Amino acid sequence: MTQTVYERIGVSTIINAKGPSTRVSGSILAGEVATAMSEASQHCVDMAVLQGRASEIIAEITGAESGLVTSGAAAGLLLGTAACVTGLDPGKMNRLPNTDGMKSEVVVARSHRNFYDHAVRAVGVKLVEVGISDRFSGAGVRDTEAWEIDDAISGNTAAVLYVAQPHALPELSSVIEVSHRRKVPVIVDAAAQLPPVSNLQYFTGVGADLVVFSGGKALMGPQASGMLCGRRDLIAAAALQNLDLDVRFDHWDPPGSLIDKSKLVGLPQHGIGRSCKVGKEEIVGFLTALKNFSGGGFEQHQEKCRVVAESLYDGLLQFEHINVELLSDCSGPGIPGVSLSQGLVKAEELVKRLQNGTPSVYVDPSLVHEGKVRFDTLCLHSKDVPSIVHCIRTALDLCD
Ligand SMILES: *Cc1c(COP(=O)(O)O)cnc(C)c1O
Repeated sequence: MTQTVYERIGVSTIINAKGPSTRVSGSILAGEVATAMSEASQHCVDMAVLQGRASEIIAEITGAESGLVTSGAAAGLLLGTAACVTGLDPGKMNRLPNTDGMKSEVVVARSHRNFYDHAVRAVGVKLVEVGISDRFSGAGVRDTEAWEIDDAISGNTAAVLYVAQPHALPELSSVIEVSHRRKVPVIVDAAAQLPPVSNLQYFTGVGADLVVFSGGKALMGPQASGMLCGRRDLIAAAALQNLDLDVRFDHWDPPGSLIDKSKLVGLPQHGIGRSCKVGKEEIVGFLTALKNFSGGGFEQHQEKCRVVAESLYDGLLQFEHINVELLSDCSGPGIPGVSLSQGLVKAEELVKRLQNGTPSVYVDPSLVHEGKVRFDTLCLHSKDVPSIVHCIRTALDLCD
């Protein structure tokens, strides 16, 4: 058998029944997306022109004024926060992450804090946490309320950060209302909120100023891609801190869909977002995946996933001592999967055995405390099913 590019450098591939997480290398690209990236790699373009066209395509699909392809959702958080702090002032852009003399606070509900907000703090701002989510402790019935965000906003507030989840509180619309009343932009981290496909337009539709999506998750774009979409002036400020602008101002002619040159007094040096550089291959791959995802491609892939989930379910039914359940919402809403529980070994132990087996199968361990091991189908090929069944059989020493 011919070796994969990974095997040629001595790296084993895994079966990814975990879903599109970064640590298991994101999703699997549709052939069309991989081809587009390969084709993109064989030509050179002016990156500002490419991002200008990306902005138009993102605007058309999301309903936002403007957009930027980023090297991931976390990069979008960094660039979006920087944009809210500096506006179109190149002097401020040059001084970040030193925020002396700038608005340097970002207000966030305490229950929205998560590991990814490091990308916001990297800009040099301080997170101002509000509310106590005592619902989760069982001691109370409330989460943060919109008035508490209003109360924390001051002349020093650059933005409000909102991490979107179906169960997130307070309601996004109420947060936008209080923030806009105080003229403060709202950044929505919607990295993992696709599907549903309708969320591409939802957050912009309710008035969010900037929205961040991951390209490497269920959108099934390149692993190191994402997008920032929203207000034209903020996207321009983000682009200015991301693009290579080591050019003479009078020679520079940016696309109007991305940056309005007449609003600028000059160009910043390499900005705080330079380390979030995104390649032409990722931009083209992301745009191809975005068009696919929004144009019926997700539903098609979902159908394939459903077939894979059913065949895995059927393959596992033959064994005694295990319970299997077909799931319609595994790593995300509408993403099919299978849940397995059994009394032979601890669920954590099964996760470990599958990971250490040959081939190595990575599963979703988020419900092991309930004794459940879940198999997500988003990153599986139908040919993986017999291997997974075989690996479970070996790991649990089952006979059929
Ligand atoms: C995955 C995720 C991110 C980071 O996305 P990348 O595209 O991997 O940078 C940020 N925020 C949340 C809530 C996420 O789930």
